[in-house]
Amino acid sequence: MKIKTMYTCEVCGTNYEDKNKAEGCEKTHKVVEIERAEYLPYNSCNNDLKGFPLRIWVRAKDGTCAVYKKW
Ligand SMILES: [Zn+2]
Repeated sequence: MKIKTMYTCEVCGTNYEDKNKAEGCEKTHKVVEIERAEYLPYNSCNNDLKGFPLRIWVRAKDGTCAVYKKW
């Protein structure tokens, strides 16, 4: 019987046989914090959001920013 060792990226969950590839995968992911969120008024016709923001701005530790929008 052969024992196989796997390394798992702790950010995205991908498994690798090579430890360096798993570490490289982890380094490519930008862990972010929500910097700002835009909400719609409660009486908006776009009530599919169920209280969640329409758009969020996220910032990574390296200072770069991205915007995510529901629609
Ligand atoms: Zn990964």
